[in-house]
Amino acid sequence: MVGDVAVGGGEPVVVQSMLKSPPSDVKQALVQTERLAEAGCRLIRVAVPDKHALEPLKRFCAESPLPVIADIHFNYKLALGAIESGVSKVRLNPGNLKDREQIRQVVERCKDKGLPIRVGANSGSIKERSRRDERLMVDALLDGVVEYCQYIESLGFRDIIVSLKASDVQTNTAVYRAMAGRSDYPLHVGLTATGPMAQGVVRSSIALGSLLVDGIGDTVRVSLTGDPLREVELAYEILRASGRLFDRPVIVSCPTCGRCEGDVIGAVEEVAEALKDSRERIKVAVMGCVVNGPGEAKECDYGVACGVNNAVLFRKGEIVKHIRMTDMVSELLNLLEKEQN
Ligand code: SF4
Repeated sequence: MVGDVAVGGGEPVVVQSMLKSPPSDVKQALVQTERLAEAGCRLIRVAVPDKHALEPLKRFCAESPLPVIADIHFNYKLALGAIESGVSKVRLNPGNLKDREQIRQVVERCKDKGLPIRVGANSGSIKERSRRDERLMVDALLDGVVEYCQYIESLGFRDIIVSLKASDVQTNTAVYRAMAGRSDYPLHVGLTATGPMAQGVVRSSIALGSLLVDGIGDTVRVSLTGDPLREVELAYEILRASGRLFDRPVIVSCPTCGRCEGDVIGAVEEVAEALKDSRERIKVAVMGCVVNGPGEAKECDYGVACGVNNAVLFRKGEIVKHIRMTDMVSELLNLLEKEQN
């Protein structure tokens, strides 16, 4: 549990993000967190760069609508201070916080307070030699995290979440797969330092999606160089596309081609607009011709497929009726409305 949010153990994947405002600006931090919470963010991580961040952190924790995770590097005293400030989880970086006695003190304090620890390795904290070689990087991240976890376990503490983020998609995927094969600790999956927005969206989608489709990942954070709201929105799109979340209608539409018999592009826009606020777990097809159209439409809960002179309305694999092409959208939406009410 991170506060009141369960992570791992077969629970739905938890979306989290990280504050981008300065630690001293509690007001802005709360505004940002409220926006993220409204978008579905469940946990918020906060940088704790120095001791001056602790007092504002305390005020932030007292008012935050989301459980707060302290992001700690280099200095274990900041972890101890953050725990006293009221955080619900502590992230330690094995690449820069290594002293065993210092780790022990943090672990004991977390044990007392019932807080989990994220062992969060990052390729940027791995020594220079390993950074130039994918295999070395995978081994360095994995060995560092496993050894860290083993030490923490030796202290009688198993409330651990693991992350092993790289900035390279292949390395990231390889190291998470290796970790998933070695341990059953919940995994926080993400890709770090993803680059400009368009590149970050594609790279994050491939990196996280390729793990999530195989059931790897218990909590996700998309890292984008931009508004954290985009991180949360993209995280949900990745979860939906990976089959880890089905919380609204899925529209299946063909790309159209020279065989297309009707205005599929216009119809899809109208259907998408009509369903944008729906939370029904349904699949709706809009297809352009008889080649793949009826087949796809039949596999969905509802659908329309264009024919030569008219269109066909489907429901759960059965033809409901033949309809005029111009009535395609209205007939489909009428059927949906009737069935959902
Ligand atoms: Fe083309 Fe028909 Fe396939 Fe649509 S369903 S892309 S119109 S062949």
